[in-house]
Amino acid sequence: MARNKLVVGNWKMNLNQAGARELAVALAQKLPSMLSADAATGKARVQAAACPAFVHLTTVAEALKGTPITWGGQNVYHQADGAFTGEISTSMLKDLGCRFVILGHSERRLVLGESDGEVCRKLQAVLAAGLAPIVCVGETLEQREKGETWQVIQSQLEGSLANLTLVQAPQLVLAYEPVWAIGTGKNATPAQAQEVHADLRKWLASRYNQGLADSVQILYGGSVKPDNARELMAQADIDGALVGGASLKAESFAAIVAAAGA
Ligand code: PEP
Repeated sequence: MARNKLVVGNWKMNLNQAGARELAVALAQKLPSMLSADAATGKARVQAAACPAFVHLTTVAEALKGTPITWGGQNVYHQADGAFTGEISTSMLKDLGCRFVILGHSERRLVLGESDGEVCRKLQAVLAAGLAPIVCVGETLEQREKGETWQVIQSQLEGSLANLTLVQAPQLVLAYEPVWAIGTGKNATPAQAQEVHADLRKWLASRYNQGLADSVQILYGGSVKPDNARELMAQADIDGALVGGASLKAESFAAIVAAAGA
C-alpha cells in the first residue's frame, strides 16, 4: 500500500529566536515546491514539519503560516491546565497552530526518565486535543547486542499505546529511532531499519487489523542525512524520517525532503 511520506525536523534544544526564524523562513522558501499535491488524490505525497523548542513556536508559526509545512511540539504534559510549573499543555500547542507532538523521544525516556506510562497519558491528551502524535520507540546498543531489540520495542509499544483504541489508532504516527543511531552519525542500515519497521507493522496488524497496520506512517530516525535518506525511505515500510541534526540546516533538511519524494 502506498503511504504518504512524512519528514519531521526535531530541532531539539537548539537555536535562538533569530536562528529559528531564519531557518523557518528558509524552509518556507525551499520546501513548498517539493510538497505538491498528488494529482489523483489531491493529497500531498510528501509532508514536512518542523518541531522547534517551545519558545520558538510562535516565531516558526509566523514564518510557516500559509505554506504546506506544518509544525509541532517536542513534548507536552498530559494535564489540561493548572499548577504544573514548567509544563506545556495540548491546548497551548493547539493555540499556536501545532499539528504534531513528538512523544517518548529517547532523550526524554533516557535523560529525563520518562516512562511508558507517561507517554501513554500524553498520547491520550494529544489525541483528545486533535493533535497528531509521533510516538518514538527504539533500543539501545547494549539491548541490540544482547538480541533484545524486538522485546524492548514491543514492551515500549504495549506500555505507550496501552489505551489506544482502534478508533484512535489511525491518528498515530510511529517513529523507530534506535538510540545508538541518534546523533551519532551511525545510521541503521536500510535493512536493519526495514526489519524493525516490518515488525512494527506486524504488531499493529495483530493488535488492531491489517488495514490499520497498512495505513499507519512509520518514520525512521537516527542520523538521517541527505546521503542516506533516499535509500532508507525507499524501504517498503519506511514512510519518512524524524531528523535531528540535519534538520538544523535548511539545505540538508530540504535535501532529505526531496529524497522522500524521489
Ligand atoms: C532525533 O532527534 O530524533 C534524531 C534522530 O537525531 P539525529 O538525526 O541527529 O540522529
